[in-house]
Amino acid sequence: MSEASRPSFSQLVLASGNAGKLAELQAMLGNAVEVIPQSRFVEQEVEETGLTFVENAILKARHAAKASGLPSLADDSGLAVDALGGAPGIYSARYAGGGDSANNAKLLQALQGIPDDQRSARFISVLVLMLHAEDPTPIICEGIWHGRILHEPQGSQGFGYDPLFWVPEMSCASAELSPADKNRLSHRAQAMADLRKRLGLV
Ligand code: IMP
Repeated sequence: MSEASRPSFSQLVLASGNAGKLAELQAMLGNAVEVIPQSRFVEQEVEETGLTFVENAILKARHAAKASGLPSLADDSGLAVDALGGAPGIYSARYAGGGDSANNAKLLQALQGIPDDQRSARFISVLVLMLHAEDPTPIICEGIWHGRILHEPQGSQGFGYDPLFWVPEMSCASAELSPADKNRLSHRAQAMADLRKRLGLV
């Protein structure tokens, strides 16, 4: 993107109600822009009716931009497990219908008896930046983090499936990483690095 066509703004609405995600995105964005949580403008979160991460990220970003009148950034993310044909995928947050520990328990159950060499998985993050609700050319960035699913939870950092996600490059679970290490390596960090480049922030 040429210097002249790069978007410039000083405030951004983060289109997420997920506290874990919000903390990570805020830490990654640093002081580059003033980050405002969508809870200040949005009463009800948009229904995620898309069938892909990209569609759902666009729905969330558009919803927050519309409610706030500000540029918005949304992340749609999830875990894809190869032995489960890519599940829970876009349904990661709603996999067991009862929050993080129910999701983790269901995942362990689904993988019961499956050996390590067939427990490969990846986290996916799609970030969408929209300058306004009718923005026809949202910036779309993707990050993928490869690992495998453990046999029991390990660690207490992070959120979601972090206690079950083995990070080969660090030889520990994602929930055992410091926030700084996770924010350097994760799917979200990779998508954010791409976004920062596209915005000319690096
Ligand atoms: P979303 O808010 O609809 O994008 O759903 C994201 C869901 O994917 C979260 O609720 C978690 O279950 C899972 N997820 C996404 N990113 C992470 C992560 O960094 N660690 C652990 N779980 C994650």
